[in-house]
Amino acid sequence: MNFDHCSLEEIKDYQLKKLSELTEHFKKVPFLTERLRDFKKIDENNIVDIPIMKKEDLRRFSPYERTAKGSQTMKSLFSSSGTTGKPSIYAWGKNDDRILEKSAKRCMSRVGINENDLIALITSTGTGIMWYCFFQQYQPMDATTILLGTPPLEDLYYFFINYPISVVTSLPTFGSLFEYYIRKKQLPMDKIPFNFRQFHCGGDFLSDARRQRIEDFFSVDVYDFYGISEIFGPIFGECPEKQGFHMNNDLVLVEVLDPFIKEPVKPGELGVFVYTTLWNKLSPLLRYWSNDYGYIINEECKCGRKSPRLFLKGRPENMIIDKEKKDILFIKDVENILLKHPDVFSEYKCILHGQKDLKIQCALNSPNCELDKELIIKELELIKNYNYEIQISDLTFEFGKPTRLIEKEDTFG
Ligand SMILES: [Zn+2]
Repeated sequence: MNFDHCSLEEIKDYQLKKLSELTEHFKKVPFLTERLRDFKKIDENNIVDIPIMKKEDLRRFSPYERTAKGSQTMKSLFSSSGTTGKPSIYAWGKNDDRILEKSAKRCMSRVGINENDLIALITSTGTGIMWYCFFQQYQPMDATTILLGTPPLEDLYYFFINYPISVVTSLPTFGSLFEYYIRKKQLPMDKIPFNFRQFHCGGDFLSDARRQRIEDFFSVDVYDFYGISEIFGPIFGECPEKQGFHMNNDLVLVEVLDPFIKEPVKPGELGVFVYTTLWNKLSPLLRYWSNDYGYIINEECKCGRKSPRLFLKGRPENMIIDKEKKDILFIKDVENILLKHPDVFSEYKCILHGQKDLKIQCALNSPNCELDKELIIKELELIKNYNYEIQISDLTFEFGKPTRLIEKEDTFG
């Protein structure tokens, strides 16, 4: 079955069959045994009665209590990223490698990765799974990878001009950092090899405006891929149309639930992605509240693929929730406005004072430019009504995932 071309009915039938088959597998997980006591088989009607798994649940139980004993050989222990609290550890099995390979092969085929590619992986290593996924995801395409870690930028530039790197894989902000370094040092762009053709993002949100900047500066295509530490990445990935992540619906069942009332939302409506893994994953997820906000659309993509597409808006560390009004401001939308202004530097900080005062600190690309703050504020007001203040300040790049939102109790002044 080609899951990029199945109808929604075919996908649903397949997912329900899988859920039913996997009921016994889920029951092997000590953490889930009690939750599934009354479920003979998971089906279309009763799945909504299974309690949601939250990050706190994962932290409360040891990795071994969250492991389906005897289902496959344990290969590694990985941790979640820990960006929103203490990381949790989970077990990774040999068969999980095969599923990662299957998912990655589909994602990388869509953007034309092949055996001639030399791929530079720029990521820190450690217990988190991201570097491992970056390393594994190109193997099914027989591409060559080099794990560079997070080297000094001068070493990276040297490496770049001496080897025929065709793809760079990193956090989106790294593309901006490398651009900043080349501009600041006035390094010649014509030494960058003409093979360089794609920049692959993962691990953080990518705004259209940042994508455009990186594409224009390096003359490459920027593609975004999606994953979560508790499963792997890429679970979903973009096609050359760059219009959302094509979903691998045979591997993961995704429910989109209203963040406030926790009921399913309609296609195209904002909600939280809740994941159930559909293979004998060593540490399976069953209705896992990912805390990732976004929406799914079912219309056929311009590329001709029918697979539903997922659009990520953000995670709690990058959004402001007004619980009274049930309204959310995503920093991704703020970034999209800021970075469309060529004078604004690629990094910024949003500081929320109290409930309604949002100060945005940004630096300028050149000290001589005059920033039209009023225009930016008008554009921001069109997305959400806050008391905005734009402040020009000196900002430097952080290597890694930047903190973009800081919340303070007090108000302006
Ligand atoms: Zn497409």
